[in-house]
Amino acid sequence: MNVWVSTKNAHKAEEIGQIMGSTCQIRTLLDLPDFPDIDENGDSYRANAELKARALWEKVREPVFADDSGLEVDALNGRPGIHSARFSGPDTNHPRNIDKLLAELGDLPVENRSARFRCVIVYLDQQGVAHEFVGTVEGYIGFERLGHGGFGYDPVFMLPDRNCSIAQLPATEKNAISHRARAVELLKAFLNQS
Ligand code: IMP
Repeated sequence: MNVWVSTKNAHKAEEIGQIMGSTCQIRTLLDLPDFPDIDENGDSYRANAELKARALWEKVREPVFADDSGLEVDALNGRPGIHSARFSGPDTNHPRNIDKLLAELGDLPVENRSARFRCVIVYLDQQGVAHEFVGTVEGYIGFERLGHGGFGYDPVFMLPDRNCSIAQLPATEKNAISHRARAVELLKAFLNQS
């Protein structure tokens, strides 16, 4: 079975391909070099994932999925959420996003620094009907950067049961427990059933 993933991110595509295994053959926007950039202007993870998936489905008319993810910090009422990539401004980078996050949390104690990564996948079947899959990973925001793996907020996202940051995990371990991995596993189970 052919399934399209609406992403130009080769790292993400490879991670998803590994989790999917032999369930399906993955193709991505990297196979369609002329495909225009998609404006992620939705007001929720679900809306953003669906608009990315729908744009590609309109072209290929085959099963497509897309994901949208972000970091939710309880003490910040769920921010940065869907704005995670641009938390510290429109033309920013992750070191600055982390600086802003650590500054906003200040010296709040560990018990008030709870957070999660959330990933929402929207899968559009052959007929364009949407199915949603959600994966989360719970943790808390540390007081300093630890580790060099992963990307984004990983150096300050602490896993309580392992007492380390996600950036300190080998990629294979991150990919086994991440929010994205959990959402993709749910999609995989759905595809294997149907
Ligand atoms: P995307 O929707 O997967 O492109 O993620 C949007 C933003 O959420 C990223 O630019 C990061 O700021 C944050 N994010 C999502 N997943 C992760 C992760 O696994 N580690 C660290 N940051 C992440």
